[in-house]
Formats: sequence, C-alpha cells, structure tokens
Amino acid sequence: MFNCKVCGDKLSPRLLHYPKAPGVSQRAGFDETHTLVELDIHQCCGCGLIQIPIEPVSYYRTALRSGHISPEMTQFREDRLDELEALGAKKILDVDAYPGPRIQDAPFDGFYFMQYLEHLPNPNEALRNLRANLVKDAVGIVGVPNFTMILAKGLFLEFTRDHLLYFTHETLAKTLMINGFELKGMKEYMNGYILCATVQRRPLLNLNKMEECRLQLKQEVEAYIGEKRIVIWGASHQTYALMLMLGITDKVEYIIDSNPSKQGIYAPGTFIPIVSPKVLDSYQGDKILVVAGGYNDEITAVIQRTHPTLQITCIEGGKLESKC
Ligand SMILES: [Zn+2]
Repeated sequence: MFNCKVCGDKLSPRLLHYPKAPGVSQRAGFDETHTLVELDIHQCCGCGLIQIPIEPVSYYRTALRSGHISPEMTQFREDRLDELEALGAKKILDVDAYPGPRIQDAPFDGFYFMQYLEHLPNPNEALRNLRANLVKDAVGIVGVPNFTMILAKGLFLEFTRDHLLYFTHETLAKTLMINGFELKGMKEYMNGYILCATVQRRPLLNLNKMEECRLQLKQEVEAYIGEKRIVIWGASHQTYALMLMLGITDKVEYIIDSNPSKQGIYAPGTFIPIVSPKVLDSYQGDKILVVAGGYNDEITAVIQRTHPTLQITCIEGGKLESKC
C-alpha cells in the first residue's frame, strides 16, 4: 500500500473507484497507450491531500503541456512572469520553458512551476531540489489543477492516471509550506481550473535575540549571586538549563523541590543535589532564587509563609524579579 506522497501518513480506504480508465492521457503510440487501469481515489488521513496511489505513467518527467498553443494560456504565462518580476525576481527559473532551464544558471531569484506538480510521484523531492537552486528570498508561482473547484462542480472527468495528486487550496498550501515555502497568496484562473500559489522561499528565523537575552541574564544572575553560593527552588528544566547555559553550576549549593520523586537525586549533568524544602530550616544564607516557570507565585507564597526572612527572587520572563 502506498503512503501519502507529501506527508507520509496513511491513506484512507478508497473514496471512489473507476474500474475502467485510460492507462495514459498523452503519448499515443506507446505500449501502454491502449492499456486500461483502475483508478482508486484516496485521501491522506494526515494532510488531507486527495491522491491516486498508482505508479506514474512512464513519461511523467516530460508530461506535455499545451500552453504554448493557446493564446490565452500564453498570455496567462506572460502575466505570471510579469507578476514575478513585479515581486523583484530578475532571474526566473521557468520550468515550463523549452528546452528547459539550464542548471548552470542557478541560483534563481524567481521560479514558475506550472501544471506539473500533480504528475509527480515524489513532489517533495521536486520542491526541495527546486528550493536548493533558489536564492534565500526567492519568489515563485506554483500552478496546479484546482481540485477545490473540481470537487465543488463534481467534475469526475478530471480524474486521470497522469495526475497522481489533486490539490485544494488547503493541501497545496500545506505541501508548499512543508517543503520550505511561505505562502504569499493564492488565486484561481482560467474559469477556476488553475489554482496558483505565490510563494517565497522561507527565510531562516533570526535567533540573535536568544543570545542577547542569555548574555543579559548571565550578567544579572552573576551580579545577584555575588561571592556566596545560592540555593534554587525548582528542579525544573529551566533550572538545569540556567545552571549550564549561564555557567553558574559551581555557585549553586543545592536545589529544593517539594516533589518527593525528585528529592535525593542529582540535577542532570551537574551533580547538584535536589533536596526537600525541610533543608531550608538549616539554611545559613539570606536569599533564594525561584526558577519554576508557572509555579513561581505559588512557591513564593510558600517561602514567604515558612521562611519570611528570606529574600526571594524569581526568574520571570527571562529576567530577575525581586519578590521582597
Ligand atoms: Zn498527507
């Protein structure tokens, strides 16, 4: 049994069955021309993409498109290329062009990928290879037969062995997104038969803020600790990360936690003991750091009640916050 060609999840039981369909839609004269096939229409249980789990036709890599014969389709293509230029693309990979784009011209800052994705047995591979040949903020237009319209009008004649995949607005968007493209817009053309997504190669997030915040907190925590060792309340993942990411392991005497299952062991990767709150009764210091995320207020109230002379400081929103 085939799995989904996009997300790899299971396919539903067949939703439709056509016992007799042409084995091919193009290339009369081949051995397979007069074979008949059964078409079983399934939907992915994960991403929802409608698909026909069947081997592709032998010529799927060079599926014919007749756009250059139709003036309307020629104009459509010109308009889309103009759109890409308006979005700033200067060097456009036109997958529809004859004799095809030359790979030595990569990378491209725009691409036009029309009426082809639905033929492919491995659409992810095609889209990822395409992405690998684009500059980081490249824009593109991907066009497919519009299954949203096909479904609304019940156009069962659109099911063909040549098309393995049937994209709605939603499943086209998902397919493009999981392959590294951000959706910028979606439009229908040619009486709704063609669905076009305008996309941009997804830029990597800028995570510099994380390092700025780490350095800021390190400065604050080191100033707070001073010369003496401290105790921390909260055997949490935040505490373990705090000690290691700020490099303050040797400044922590022990960690307190009221959960008995955490007591009597060492904090992961640090050999700092985790102890019961009772240990605070013999604590000689005057301050305690609470690092327990959403439990900070609850723990602060406990300490204020049981050890009212301690100065309590919490880590709230990535910053030190005094509770006294
Ligand atoms: Zn899927």
